[in-house]
Amino acid sequence: MPRPIHATIHPCALRNNLARVRQAAQDARVWAVVKANAYGHGIERVYASLRAADGFALLDLAEAERLRALGWRGPILLLEGVFEPRDLELCSRLDLWHVVHCDEQIDMLAAHKTQQPHHVWLKLNSGMNRLGFTPQRYRSAWARLNALPQVDEVGHVTHFSDADGARGIAHQVDAFLAATQDLPGERSLANSAAILRHASAARVRADWVRAGIALYGSAPDHPDGSAAHWSLQPAMTLATRLMGVQRLAAGDSVGYGSRFVAPAPMTIGVAACGYADGYPRHADTGTPVLVAGVRTRLVGRVSMDMLAVDLEPVLAAGVHVGFGSEVTLWGHATRGGAILPIDEVAHAAGTVAYELMCALAPRVPVADC
Ligand code: PLP
Repeated sequence: MPRPIHATIHPCALRNNLARVRQAAQDARVWAVVKANAYGHGIERVYASLRAADGFALLDLAEAERLRALGWRGPILLLEGVFEPRDLELCSRLDLWHVVHCDEQIDMLAAHKTQQPHHVWLKLNSGMNRLGFTPQRYRSAWARLNALPQVDEVGHVTHFSDADGARGIAHQVDAFLAATQDLPGERSLANSAAILRHASAARVRADWVRAGIALYGSAPDHPDGSAAHWSLQPAMTLATRLMGVQRLAAGDSVGYGSRFVAPAPMTIGVAACGYADGYPRHADTGTPVLVAGVRTRLVGRVSMDMLAVDLEPVLAAGVHVGFGSEVTLWGHATRGGAILPIDEVAHAAGTVAYELMCALAPRVPVADC
């Protein structure tokens, strides 16, 4: 028998989340962001559920090839993947729209021999300070790009650093409006957090939004913003089973480093999931987990292949558990319709849902529900 750990992808949740994003984005078109193998969910699976998106955005040419091989003929935006001239050839062959964020990419385009002009999106660095032209240099970059025979359309794009945080987006929106004022071309600004929290403003939704994490059922991190608050549903469940049960006396410890010491006699379970499966090693005592659909907590340190859970709340709920009982690390429990939002696990482990989704290890089998 293989180890019982498995991930399940929920097509209905993906479709629900796309509908929620569309509702928030109103008249804007939606790029479903499927970089990093669709945030760990698998491009092929996600494509099957999100074909109603207006386009897909990603940053790996190999992933763009996979999408075209699946039969997608609509827009694909390459968010940042042009590193050398032959990448432009692939963009032409796959009919990709691609982001231009530096002079070197304009140089490459100028030297590129192509029959088919490129549809590009010029990136403004409006404050994230990762990629893009500064507001001071933006219009000259646009003029250069616009004059190239290799280019037939130039859109405008920027990326928010704090759409889910205290700083907000106003300063970046203002910088974008100033830099792109009167220039022709479509515009795209909003990621998930901006779509959910700020897209009532037409200047934020613009022509296209780029939705990633919300499609996968995680809410951008904000006190008022749990996934349920936005009616988002978890698109991924990570579940396993108990492989052992231990009765501890007061003072007994659990796992490496003896990080958890039982304050009183208690029963713990050992689940077949560890950091080699992608579960965060930094998760510590208190991180939420469901056993047989009942909410309880992790105890002690996460090992490579297993972790320990407190069974007291489960037994107190009158639920019989033992070897083989279901343990839900995040997502939907089979029993009782309980849900453990991945954001809560991420928060307890000091990370973000993006990292947990992307860290799912290749040894964990993934299936549709
Ligand atoms: N746009 C760009 C340029 C990105 O890098 C990302 C993801 O990091 C997104 C959009 C989607 O962001 P989110 O997953 O927060 O919706």
